[in-house]
Amino acid sequence: MLIHHSPTVVPTQHRAAELDRLGDEIAELSAHLDAATARLLDLIREFDARGGWNTGFRSCAAWLSWRVGLDLGAARERVRVARALATLPLFAQALARGELSYAKVRALTRVATPETEARLLGVGRAGTAAHVERIVRGWRCVDRRAEAREAKHRHGSRALHVYHDEDGMVVLRGRLEPEVGALLMQALAAARESLYQRARVRAGAAAGSGDVSAETPPVARQQADALALLAETALHHGLDPGAPGERYQVVVHVDAQVLVDPDQPGQSVLEDGTRVSAETSRRLACDASRVVMRHDDEGRLLEIGARTRTIPPALRRALHHRDGGCRFPGCGVRFGQGHHLRHWAEGGPTTLSNLALLCRRHHRAVHEEGYQVARGPDGALQFRRPDGRPLPEVPPPAAVPGDPITALRACHDLQGLRIHARTGCPGWLGERLNVGWAIDVLHPLAQRSRPCLSSEQGSLAARPS
Ligand SMILES: [Zn+2]
Ligand SMILES: [Zn+2]
Repeated sequence: MLIHHSPTVVPTQHRAAELDRLGDEIAELSAHLDAATARLLDLIREFDARGGWNTGFRSCAAWLSWRVGLDLGAARERVRVARALATLPLFAQALARGELSYAKVRALTRVATPETEARLLGVGRAGTAAHVERIVRGWRCVDRRAEAREAKHRHGSRALHVYHDEDGMVVLRGRLEPEVGALLMQALAAARESLYQRARVRAGAAAGSGDVSAETPPVARQQADALALLAETALHHGLDPGAPGERYQVVVHVDAQVLVDPDQPGQSVLEDGTRVSAETSRRLACDASRVVMRHDDEGRLLEIGARTRTIPPALRRALHHRDGGCRFPGCGVRFGQGHHLRHWAEGGPTTLSNLALLCRRHHRAVHEEGYQVARGPDGALQFRRPDGRPLPEVPPPAAVPGDPITALRACHDLQGLRIHARTGCPGWLGERLNVGWAIDVLHPLAQRSRPCLSSEQGSLAARPS
């Protein structure tokens, strides 16, 4: 009896034809879905490029995950492939015609460049998804070796020359590795910002207006001043970076009435004198350690209170346990700051019901970018966009026609797409795949560096038998 249910049972001729039809239908519909995926990726690319996701979401992938319900990994992959296809038109067209599956395109776009696209398209057309995956793995191995050689070469060429010019000025010339360069540029930008802000505050106080654009020096000169500030700061603080906790500590001096009402006049400055907006100081104070100092009318210090945490450690643990991550719709970043739904400076209690965990990005969105969050009567958090429209935790589902498959076929017919059961079929005839040989033939750098996958086969071939 059991044998009739076994998949190895030899089908009758009628059954065989029926199963062939079923298989053809699966293949044809899959090709339709791949063609539709190409259109989907076009839309994602445009949405990404035009910043349509930049409405409180961290990235296009985060928006996609929220709106469409993809897991974040799959959403990131869609965005990556969509961006890659912008410079790989042959892949884009093959996907849009249903000739190359999304799985193959995903794998191939990890290694393809405009230079190698045509050759890799051949691999995608001829091989199965498993072949393509293996070739891409071997290809990346060659890429990684070339990259490692290049990184080693770059590291060896790092240098900074500092010398005096004829007129006594000091000239700098150098080459930094990309990550070191990024660090330097960040530091310069921070120093420039600080100098520029101070100048603006001074000029604003002198002239009674904030407009000093006429006095702002050109960027190259600002950079020179910024570098001087960096050197000064490094020597002033010593070169020991200190304990990580204190390294990034930001101290804000803020008047109590500014925390209660951002429209109140009052000071809100960082330790170095940089002015920050009242909203920023409210955010920094939302979850911080706090020292209350009282000054008299002349500004003399009268009293210093003990340092306390705004949110005590036990309550913070309970908050992390309850919220599990940032509560902003579609975010879910694990670590965050405790946000007071009603600010403590306005008398909001530091209790679980008045707190919500928000990541750094979304804490800023709520304080400084006009997003609103409140707890509804049922206890659930309700987020709103700056224009007041609600931002639901789960967006309403998109409208789908009653018979989506017929609609998809009709739509492709209308575009003149001829998709059938053989459209996405590989040209493979069952021969054994030699990954090493394939990459040796295809990869532009393979002649100089043998791919790791081929070394074994290479030595086997060299051994006399
Ligand atoms: Zn807050
Ligand atoms: Zn967040």
